Amino acid sequence: MVVCHRNAVTMNRSTPGKPRQASRPGGRGRESLAARRERAGRICARLSASFPAAACSLDFASPFQLLIATILSAQCTDRRVNMVTGPLFRRWPTADRLAAAPPRELEETIRSTGFFRAKAKSILGCCRGLTEEHGGEVPRSLEALVKLPGVGRKTANVVMGSAFGEATGVVVDTHVGRIARRLGLTRHGDAVRAERDLVACLPRDQWIAFSHRLIELGRTICTARKPHCAACPLEPLCPRKGVAAAKASR
Ligand code: SF4
Repeated sequence: MVVCHRNAVTMNRSTPGKPRQASRPGGRGRESLAARRERAGRICARLSASFPAAACSLDFASPFQLLIATILSAQCTDRRVNMVTGPLFRRWPTADRLAAAPPRELEETIRSTGFFRAKAKSILGCCRGLTEEHGGEVPRSLEALVKLPGVGRKTANVVMGSAFGEATGVVVDTHVGRIARRLGLTRHGDAVRAERDLVACLPRDQWIAFSHRLIELGRTICTARKPHCAACPLEPLCPRKGVAAAKASR
């Protein structure tokens, strides 16, 4: 596939001598699945070269700790979650101990992560489920994880990928969803639909690393408000869908 930069100018064959703007990859017409897979493979290669060590930035020492930390990370930075989980796990180190925590005390401990009442309810329900259904252990199964109270597909994929090393799907958080849309790998704002598009075009052995690397890109270069496309390793492969419109609306 020919790769074209946004400002590249080619000669128009129908009117010799007249320059025209070249199209960006995935930016005009409907890209076939085969073409999208090929482009996605090259995106993975560039992400690997730029962010070789990208990994989960939540602190955890066990699948249980990662599960609880991921529930806490909704609408909150991983840095803030890491400040809370140390004291949390020192006080309630296991699922059965945490399941028995007084709700008000748990709420106070996690208050700074935001939405603390809903999160406390999710954590207590999740820990009761772990204790009653799984002997206090985190199940190594996406299907079993999503049946736990307060655990959605994203949280389950985080645990399966980063705690167990199993690629059951692609974690679609706010960074991954936004950048995947800009890259033209999905057009869906809904995380489940976006994940379906991503697993269809990404090699399975890239599912876990892709999310970690895109999150790193989203924190540093392809930020929500102002993507720094000139500094982006994916620039030659990106149609920047929605980027111009976002700038115009500011
Ligand atoms: S920074 Fe620009 S070129 Fe890079 S992924 Fe985001 S929108 Fe595409």
